[in-house]
Amino acid sequence: MNDYQAPHHLLENKIILITGAGDGIGAQAAKTYAQYGATCILLGRTVAKLETVYDEIVNAGGAEPAIVPLDLKGATPSHYQQMAQTIIDQFGHLDGMLHNASVLGHLSAFKDIDAQEWQDVMQVNVNGMVYMTQALIPVLEKAENASVVFTTSSVGRHGRAFWGTYAVSKFATEGVMQTLADEYRNKSIRFNCINPGGTRTKMRSQAFPAENPETLKTPLDIMPLYLYLMGNDSLKVNGESLDCQPK
Ligand code: NDP
Repeated sequence: MNDYQAPHHLLENKIILITGAGDGIGAQAAKTYAQYGATCILLGRTVAKLETVYDEIVNAGGAEPAIVPLDLKGATPSHYQQMAQTIIDQFGHLDGMLHNASVLGHLSAFKDIDAQEWQDVMQVNVNGMVYMTQALIPVLEKAENASVVFTTSSVGRHGRAFWGTYAVSKFATEGVMQTLADEYRNKSIRFNCINPGGTRTKMRSQAFPAENPETLKTPLDIMPLYLYLMGNDSLKVNGESLDCQPK
């Protein structure tokens, strides 16, 4: 599906929430979804970055997005419940959500993982994703059909030395996706994972500082799969973990 060509109106009238929408892959996904007709809810921790994405969407003629400033590190289940109520009040339902925000933490030997950093990475990459999904399921159920896309990584399928905390958080992501996909089989919400593969962003350069970024795909290059999983052409796809850059 990496050569998927989305019809121009693929996401028309769809309301889609994107986490980590201010930078990297999330910012590109928000702009792409808006280009294909979606109204985007931009969630992130740095408001100035979200405002830039907002401006870019509006200047390109997209539907006016909503901005949700939220730091997943400090958010509690009640924040997500409030957010769910606000989405119901403003939009009535939610058609899609892209769980994209994540932190890498430090790469280190497993025995040296700092306990506080373990908690912080799990709080953002796992707990935030879980509590947000729980709160939003009733809002997603109000849509005719809804797509939830989680972001995984190769190290969330095969553990890798020194990638401890991040890798475990991505194994959890795959587990959450599989559990929900099974629970909601033959229902109106589908759950899948996307693995972007090495992509030219800040997180990638943090993980591989010596790498030449020009050798990597850009977030724009990998958008076909992001569009496919969010639009109605993937209605029958549930419980899959798909690669933007298959080996
Ligand atoms: P970036 O670091 O470029 O962007 C991550 C985004 O998440 C930023 O907008 C960041 O906000 C936001 N974010 C981070 N922490 C929080 C938080 N506590 N609360 C709210 N928002 C937060 O990463 P990428 O675009 O590279 O990664 C996107 C996804 O793709 C991640 O899930 C990553 O694990 C995954 N991935 C990426 C790969 C790659 O090569 N790039 C490869 C495999 C997987 P802010 O702008 O404020 O920092």
